[in-house]
Amino acid sequence: RQDHDTSRAPLDANEQLLLDSFDATSISTWSYYYTHGAHVAGRNKTQAQWTADKWAEYGWTSRLDEYFVYLNYPVSQSLQLTLPNGTVFNASLEEEVLEEDDTSSYPNRIPVFHGYSATGDASAEYVYVGRGQQVDFDRLQALGVQLEGKIAVARYGGPFRGLKVKNAQDHGMIGAIIFSDPGDDGNVTEAKGVAAYPNGPARNPTSVQRGSVMFLSTYPGDPTTPGYPSKEDSPRADPSGSVPRIPSIPISWRDAQPILQALNGFGTNGKDVNRTNWVGAIPGVTYSTGEGSGATLSLSNVMEANYTAIWNAIGIINGTNQDEVIVVGNHRDAWIVGGAADPNSGSAVLIELAKAFGKLQETGWRPKRTIVLASWDAEEYGLVGSTEWLEEYLPWLKTAAVSYLNIDVAVSGPVPDFSATPDFHEIAAQIQKKVIWPYRNTTDRTLYDVWQTEAGGEFGVLGSGSDYTGFLHRGIACIDLGAGGSVEKGDPIYPYHSNYDSYHWMSTFGDPGFVHHKAIGQYLTLLLYHLSSDEVLPLNPAGYTSELRAYYKDLEEVVSSGNGTLDLSALSSAIDTFETYAQQFISLREFAITTNNTELITVQNHKARDFSRGFTSQGGLPGREFFQNLIFAPGLDTGYAPVTYPGITESITFAKDWKRAQEWVGKTANAILVAANMLKT
Ligand code: GLU
Ligand code: CA
Ligand code: ZN
Ligand code: ZN
Repeated sequence: RQDHDTSRAPLDANEQLLLDSFDATSISTWSYYYTHGAHVAGRNKTQAQWTADKWAEYGWTSRLDEYFVYLNYPVSQSLQLTLPNGTVFNASLEEEVLEEDDTSSYPNRIPVFHGYSATGDASAEYVYVGRGQQVDFDRLQALGVQLEGKIAVARYGGPFRGLKVKNAQDHGMIGAIIFSDPGDDGNVTEAKGVAAYPNGPARNPTSVQRGSVMFLSTYPGDPTTPGYPSKEDSPRADPSGSVPRIPSIPISWRDAQPILQALNGFGTNGKDVNRTNWVGAIPGVTYSTGEGSGATLSLSNVMEANYTAIWNAIGIINGTNQDEVIVVGNHRDAWIVGGAADPNSGSAVLIELAKAFGKLQETGWRPKRTIVLASWDAEEYGLVGSTEWLEEYLPWLKTAAVSYLNIDVAVSGPVPDFSATPDFHEIAAQIQKKVIWPYRNTTDRTLYDVWQTEAGGEFGVLGSGSDYTGFLHRGIACIDLGAGGSVEKGDPIYPYHSNYDSYHWMSTFGDPGFVHHKAIGQYLTLLLYHLSSDEVLPLNPAGYTSELRAYYKDLEEVVSSGNGTLDLSALSSAIDTFETYAQQFISLREFAITTNNTELITVQNHKARDFSRGFTSQGGLPGREFFQNLIFAPGLDTGYAPVTYPGITESITFAKDWKRAQEWVGKTANAILVAANMLKT
């Protein structure tokens, strides 16, 4: 480490004031507050009100926005394994109480269950289905494994968990069990001599990943109000197409061990299944498919479904420009009492951000653009609070929203990880030069330096999995900020959605001293300051040009590895046109700046705000009207990971319909031309 850039970009007085306002000890206090009370969706009004009050204390106008949504809660769960010799094993379905970790013993701790899972019993033989993605099921079918009437046992990781259950259901299976596997933890496992939480950074063998099993492939939000807000008297659609019909339960690797061991030697051995990520690392398990084992599972899942009030806390600082708004959001609900990383690392940071802007307001500062802070409820069930709010305020947001900034798991480790729409790339990289990012043993490197040299220095493409989704699919510029651990570098295993995502874990392993909380909060704050206050809106539409070309290259590969032909010329020429008009936009903006033409600057600002609405199509992608962005979308088969030019790409990879793919070349090219034309001078 010789030649890294230790020189921080210069700060103006406002920037300095904002950065100086950040204090790791205060952030730790906010984290402690959020992580010591149950805050499952719809059962967290106290924390919603506390958040709104806190923001008000710092000079924000605040309120609670209430929706009535369909949610379900756990009543009782059980799982029993019966071996052919009659031996019975009851899965504990409990995470060990740890003396060191205060909230692990809270009487109001939340059982292990899946949000939106179906009530039901299932007793049958079972099949190990790998990650439970469509390719895994294809492989099982090729091997001739009978799936109908059986229970699926799937490994976490890869696709969104709801899709694992959906795939099992679509193959006639009658229940699903999803387990965590230490095979996803690299060398940070007990098997490699690393102590497990609370004694060390490896995964506690009893930890369980809760989470929603909504399908999400058609739309996020309340499954009973597709496309419109959930008010008390809203008409309700039947949710059965968006949530599973078969019961499911998440379990720990310790509970999974005997279940999988009973399949050893039956069906196809894990190695011979020959699928990536099929074989995990639970000791003594061969990851065999299991036909003929004679072992059975008996699963019972009782849930209570209701229409329930949820609360988004909203805080506002009005800007001088009425027609420009920046929304900054983080969800507040967690599956557990803790939620120190997910989502309350973000929640704690937002309190500190609100405080910083409060101090700036005391100096007489006002933003040009209105700032809306949001603390969403019910994200965990399926982005419910943010989606209902977006659906309610859509007419306003469609015209006024300049951007949406998301911070969910702000910190679960030291490695910065950012995804954004391409118009964000330039400003998001520039601001990194103004923030110091403590990294491992160093305390003098900028975020920019660490991000470039340690984290690859590339912005990810947004797929789904957090609250930016609705905004992205209405053509609003989005960025999603976070920092995580690296398994390769031996960072502590983040106990995602388990009882151990607690204050104790965070302060001992995730972010001792809350230094990354502070740094990412400073970064978000400066980004927000510039977006809301710069006379020239710092979004660069021209950032799309190189990305659209890169996605085009990827598409060419998809086409050439398929067994059809496609004429992509309309798309390539649309990208050329986009480049031309984006360049014209930049030149005219430069001209407006050098001639100090404020009217023209406003016109260019509005173009930068509006052009990406052009990428959306009213009817949405095939079979999913909600997902309107034709440049990127969550993969139908992944739920989280993005697919670019999804209309075209998934017509090939998913529907295997080349005629439809050709139609989507036209539609996608048109969308790019609409966006380009908005930038035209
Ligand atoms: N972030 C939550 C999860 O991964 C919700 C994701 C979603 O509903 O898209 O479980
Ligand atoms: Ca809705
Ligand atoms: Zn989250
Ligand atoms: Zn979560």
